[in-house]
This record gives sequence, C-alpha cells and structure tokens, in this order.
Amino acid sequence: MSLQFDHIVYGPIHSRRLGSSLGVNLLPKHGKICTFDCIYCECGWNRDHRGDTVLPTKEEVFAALENGLRSCKTNNLSIDTITFSGNGEPTLHPAFAEIIDFTLALRDEIFPSAKVSVLSNATQLARPGVKEALAKVDNPILKIDSADEALARTLDNPVGTYSVASVMEQMAWFKGNFVLQTMFLKGVVDGRTIDCSDRLFADKWVEMALKLHPREIMMYTLDRVPPLEPLEKVSVEKMKEIAAPLIAAGIEVIVKG
Ligand code: SF4
Repeated sequence: MSLQFDHIVYGPIHSRRLGSSLGVNLLPKHGKICTFDCIYCECGWNRDHRGDTVLPTKEEVFAALENGLRSCKTNNLSIDTITFSGNGEPTLHPAFAEIIDFTLALRDEIFPSAKVSVLSNATQLARPGVKEALAKVDNPILKIDSADEALARTLDNPVGTYSVASVMEQMAWFKGNFVLQTMFLKGVVDGRTIDCSDRLFADKWVEMALKLHPREIMMYTLDRVPPLEPLEKVSVEKMKEIAAPLIAAGIEVIVKG
C-alpha cells in the first residue's frame, strides 16, 4: 500500500468528514512514523514505510503553508479547513506547538474563514505543550477506537505502552472541548472475529463517550482498502443506532459511512 501524502502541504482535497481541506503533513514525505499501526491505516503498515525518517523543518512547513494558502486565495479555491494529518501522527513533530502558532497566524492573515483541524491518535497528550497546542485549534480531533483495552490494542497496534484509561485522563483536561473520533469496523484479525458494533463493545464505548462528553463525536468506518483484509464496514444505520444515547445526552454526533 502506498503512502498518501508526498508533500508537506497538499490539496485542497475533499474530506468526507471535514469538507474542502488543505492538508499538512508534518511527517516524512516518503515514510510513515506513528505511535500506532492501525489495522485500517490508509498509509499501510509502519514496517513498509521505514525508508524515510526525515521530518520537515518548521521553516519548510511555514513556507509550504504560506505558499499553499496564498495560491488557494489567488485561484479562488475555497478551504473549509487546514488539516494536520499525513503520514503518521502529527503531534510527534518536535516543533508541533510552534507550527500550530504560526498556522493560526497565517490562517488569520490569509484565510480567516478556514478552521484549523488536527487529526491525532491522542498518544502524545502527556508530552509538554501538546495538549495546550491542540486546545488552540478549532478542531482537535482525538482518537479512541474502543473503550475495551484489548480491542483498542487489536485495532490500533500501539507501538509503545498504551492504555485507554490514561488517554481518557489526559482528554479530561480539555473539559469536553474536543472532537472524539472512533473507527467502527468488523472482520477477522489473527483468526479472531472482531466487531466494534457488537453490543458489549458498543455499550462500553457509549459509556466512555458519555463520561468524556466531547463537544462532537465523529463515528466513521472504512473508506479505502485497509492493509489488513478482510475487514468490513459497519453500516451507517448501525452506527446511528449506537449513537442514539449520545445524541439524547446533547452531544453532536457525525456519522460517516
Ligand atoms: S493513528 Fe492514524 S496514521 Fe497512525 S496508524 Fe492509525 S490511522 Fe495510521
């Protein structure tokens, strides 16, 4: 599976979750670096993308972003959001906080109507400055794929130590001012059948989401071919059924099939 992002700034592309999105990749152009190795990752497995470990400098990010924003402006291309995602986990960049600061300044100057979004797996929240930087953007979109520790490890293959309970503790710092993102899929992994929409897992996930009470939840399922087959989508109807108690509790839930 090939990497999706071979530039620092790419797009705008249409994102099913965010609309017209100017992407920012703080990871290598020809390699993937992530603290997860999700079975559904659109970039493929970490082990297949170790050739390039060079991160862009903050100066290169600034130049690419300024150029991208000005070029969209000149060409009358609309941007709903400037989105940090790319070939791995964006908050791993050592200058992440500084990059967020100048991104917000460039956005205010060149494209004030655009939001700034960060798609993060939330594993770096305990590192100094990461939570504070995420709290400055319009959409800190933070992943927990399951409230069940074993299922979360199966889905996400964390590279180091990982516990849903400690990520939840870190997320509590945001006092609900974040977007929770969760992947729903089913299939066979290492000979075991898994189903994120199974009643037991779904109930635990709802209980966790009610506790975190984020301002928004993004439930989504597979879009492109995952590195591990056979995995299958969970239907929109099923995700909506799972979301019902969260909507009743006043949380905005976006479901993307
Ligand atoms: S957290 Fe994101 S980039 Fe990292 S492996 Fe999972 S899907 Fe891929």
